[in-house]
Amino acid sequence: MKLRDKYLVVPGAKVKLARWDPGDTAGIDSKKEALPELEDLRKKLYDLQYLLYAEKRQSLLIVLQAMDAGGKDGTIRHVMSGLNPQGCHVKSFKVPTEEELAHDYLWRVHRAVPGKGEIGIFNRSHYGDVLVVRVHNLVPKRVWSKRYEQINAFEKILADNGVIIVKFFLHISKEEQQKRLQERLDDPSKHWKVSPADFEERQYWDEYVKAHEDALSRCSTPWAPWYVIPANHKWFRNLVVADILVRTLEDMDMRFPESKLDLSKFVLD
Ligand code: ATP
Ligand code: MG
Repeated sequence: MKLRDKYLVVPGAKVKLARWDPGDTAGIDSKKEALPELEDLRKKLYDLQYLLYAEKRQSLLIVLQAMDAGGKDGTIRHVMSGLNPQGCHVKSFKVPTEEELAHDYLWRVHRAVPGKGEIGIFNRSHYGDVLVVRVHNLVPKRVWSKRYEQINAFEKILADNGVIIVKFFLHISKEEQQKRLQERLDDPSKHWKVSPADFEERQYWDEYVKAHEDALSRCSTPWAPWYVIPANHKWFRNLVVADILVRTLEDMDMRFPESKLDLSKFVLD
């Protein structure tokens, strides 16, 4: 089975994260085995991005969500490192500012959507408004519970206007999170990453699991599918994300535009 099909949340399916193994490697034994494949996928990504940019007809929006220390930053570093920075931008969504809070929750998101020819990466996203916001009751249930449908409608508008959307949930186990947070404490080069919030949020693990399950179940649509990426092994996570991105771009039926100029008029002497 192709990796993409294996980790797709089939629209309408009910996700139980306990049934998705975060340590899965699809039978690939080691990082060493995966690296040449990842290198090959990176080159393909580069060529496909070039075509996307040249064609300027569609854009690609990549949404990354994960528990703390789930590897969003690492995925961006490893998978996107081969892309041309011109035509690619990353937007990180933090605690909303006062100005952002004065608007509807999609306001800050919509304006960050990539334009035609571009790739946009959301490091966290509008899903925060049904995840952290729900877990901490930052708005009442009657408000957040309407957002699943609103998000589906919003993403449909984008899709109907040439934005191809892929959403990755980087799935790690609670033990793996513990290991990674401990590494941040032990390794001086990672001290800058230590944040009290990560340790506090860990106590809400079960609530976050539930909130993710609902978001994945209710918002995986044909026009904006969710993928649950086994992410305990960083090399495998990178491989699956790269593979899905390449296949998604290949399906976009892109072509170099024909010149409207009469090129025979240009003669170099
Ligand atoms: P890192 O992995 O490097 O820690 P991060 O994405 O966790 O990256 P931080 O600056 O540590 O970045 O945290 C951003 C914070 O913003 C998170 O705690 C997240 O829950 C919070 N946040 C994001 N969206 C919202 C929102 N809509 N409402 C409230 N808080 C939000
Ligand atoms: Mg953080």
